[in-house]
Amino acid sequence: MTGTPSREPFAITHASVITGDRAGTTLEDTTILVGTAGRIEQVAPSIATPIPDGYRMLDATGKTVMPGLINAHVHLFSDGRPLNPKMATPRGQRITASLMHSPIGRPYLKARAKASVTTLLNSGVTTIRTLGDVGYEAVELRDMIGDGRMAGPRILASGPLLAVPEGHGAPLIALTGETPDDMARNARTNLGHGSNAIKIAATGGVTDAQRLGEAGSPQMDVDRMRAICDVAHESGVIVAAHAQSPEGVRLALLAGVDTIEHGSELDPSMIELFRHNPHALRGWSALVPTLSAGLPMTLIDQRTTGITDIQLENARTVVAGMLAGANDAHDEGLRVGVGTDTAMTFVTQYNTWRELDLLVKRAGFTAAEAIHAATLGNAEILGVSDVTGSIETGKAADLLVLEGDPLLDLRVLKTPALVVANGSPVWRPKTRRFDDIDALLDRAYRE
Ligand SMILES: [Zn+2]
Repeated sequence: MTGTPSREPFAITHASVITGDRAGTTLEDTTILVGTAGRIEQVAPSIATPIPDGYRMLDATGKTVMPGLINAHVHLFSDGRPLNPKMATPRGQRITASLMHSPIGRPYLKARAKASVTTLLNSGVTTIRTLGDVGYEAVELRDMIGDGRMAGPRILASGPLLAVPEGHGAPLIALTGETPDDMARNARTNLGHGSNAIKIAATGGVTDAQRLGEAGSPQMDVDRMRAICDVAHESGVIVAAHAQSPEGVRLALLAGVDTIEHGSELDPSMIELFRHNPHALRGWSALVPTLSAGLPMTLIDQRTTGITDIQLENARTVVAGMLAGANDAHDEGLRVGVGTDTAMTFVTQYNTWRELDLLVKRAGFTAAEAIHAATLGNAEILGVSDVTGSIETGKAADLLVLEGDPLLDLRVLKTPALVVANGSPVWRPKTRRFDDIDALLDRAYRE
């Protein structure tokens, strides 16, 4: 279902509408009018809202409408089936990288990325931010979707992330350099290719760390990260940093990074920097914990995940820190975004709803807070709240029609009855699921 999107005007009537605001406001028996420009023209009580001529009418009696989900941390190069640990070694990454940039690899990668965004869309995600691509395949898809050549979510595309040589993500999904000048140049290269998001590898990562403790160990100092932030911020682009230890988080915040990905337990000085960060684009920073990415590695049997002993030990440390950070951030009222790190082992392109569920089960969020974080909260963090994130007149019609009330049971997000992205409906949103992965995750999270 990657066909050209249609822009027929329509009205959704008699719906319970979750607006997406922080208070968790729900409007009963409400009509939403969506015009041909893909924007919400009116949100008003059904009883007082006549349906204009030429508008297709959708009766949503008994259904809930909410803003489309925003996933602030995705990768498009894989589908969430276990990644081979050999592929994550420097040698494996070199081989995979040269394959992906070859005449055989490029069309494969493009098709893979296209399938990923279609799955994300059909699962109810209407805005994504990629954080680490092989090349500029996400930039290309963003422009195809923007021109109406393909249905898909709104995309903030990072291109390759920025790392030190042999650092996290290198060489498969990274541009590398040594000095602050190299970092600034690589950031300009991405912006020159049209990236509208920037990602830094501030520390090592679980997936590709080859030594114990490497996962969270700092790989970039403040000067290098500041050089990247200065270039990105000059263009109004926010910067994300992969940071999996307290020291890594602290250095990234000091440099002016706007979103901390994964995170760690937070001390008072870090909490203060999240609230007031003089070098961040908007003067504050946010945490995107990505619980979906770490937890399966520690909860599911190692023989099933296929990860190495070192990956498992590193994952235990990182997951403990990530959970502590998500809880600290919630307790302190910091901005927390929703991202899942799709394409990692067991992080499929269709399970964004599980991150909301994990924030509720493991980080003290209410369902309303989790929904806000995945909609208007994420839109504010990504700087797109003027166009999306809530159901309000004038915003893009990015919305989901659900069979039940997600405030009562988040599982209704699994199978939206209708997904609308920028005014274009996906009438029968279907995703190909991996039943084995879903069964493992259901069991792991039941506790
Ligand atoms: Zn990632």
